[in-house]
Amino acid sequence: MIELKHIEGARNRIGDRILRTPIVLSSPLSAICDVPVYLKLEHQQTTGSFKLRGAFNAVLQLSRDERSRGVVAVSTGNHGRALSFAANTCGVKATICMSALVPENKVSEIRRLGAEVRIIGRSQDEAQEEAERLASNEGLCLLPPFDHPAIIAGQGTLGLEIAEALPDVATVLIGLSGGGLASGVALAIKGWRPKARVIGLTMDRGAAMKASLDARRPVQVAEFESLADSLGGGIGLANKWTFAMCRDLLDDVVLLSETEIAAGMQHAYMEEREVVEGAGAVGIAALLANKVANLRGPVVTVLSGRNVDMHLHRRVVSGATVNFRG
Ligand SMILES: *Cc1c(COP(=O)(O)O)cnc(C)c1O
Repeated sequence: MIELKHIEGARNRIGDRILRTPIVLSSPLSAICDVPVYLKLEHQQTTGSFKLRGAFNAVLQLSRDERSRGVVAVSTGNHGRALSFAANTCGVKATICMSALVPENKVSEIRRLGAEVRIIGRSQDEAQEEAERLASNEGLCLLPPFDHPAIIAGQGTLGLEIAEALPDVATVLIGLSGGGLASGVALAIKGWRPKARVIGLTMDRGAAMKASLDARRPVQVAEFESLADSLGGGIGLANKWTFAMCRDLLDDVVLLSETEIAAGMQHAYMEEREVVEGAGAVGIAALLANKVANLRGPVVTVLSGRNVDMHLHRRVVSGATVNFRG
């Protein structure tokens, strides 16, 4: 069982390695929604996403032996960046496996952060097999992007910061993919502010956690390109932690179209003056589309990342339609 004390432990461990990102009131969104809406500016985190929290919490708990052999991960980008940075900071070698669908800006950034990148196949599953091979054949420590107690507890520290800054928080909106972020944040929020609702947000095509929650067991879904590329990928048919935590702790899951996600990115840029990637804009998108039923304030929406190709970002915020195949 992952408990609140593990998140509090994570905070003590990583507190001086990560930024305590600001929480600011959004006047435009508060006016639109008629309740106070706050933005947790986690896209300003070092490496551009919250994933640094889980990565540091995991790397700092490796044994001396594990540190000397190095870590390996499969990543659609942000976990890879975070793990590369955290490992590099701690003098540990990182190898990141990813599919050929991952955007080039993310690949080169991970190399720049000091990791070895291996590009394998066209799905997360093929990259996963390679990582497992490296773990069993070469003894690297496999650190998954979400389904791991240290990762979940690390992401949960973001929830503690929200609960502390806004003791009367009523609704927390959080991006949902594999569910590490949502599990950790929901555990922290429910632990400290039991009455607050925590709502997961994801895209309406290829949302594996939503399909799994509906099926009451982990299921596989087809992958699609999305503006919220950081929300792609499966939850693992052998999911150990996040499926059950999301099932037990999330109050609702809301699905968003590509047009709605684009509107969220556009609002973030034009009204809040923040550059966020699609996955970081889903909370704003849900508020703009009025898709959260019985919205109670104060609301906190987590801007979870900013690692978007800036040419794509410019097209989106200037109102151009971005058509993905599939
Ligand atoms: C990974 C990620 C998410 C989703 O986190 P999970 O733990 O996989 O649910 C949301 N936003 C961004 C920017 C991410 O990188």
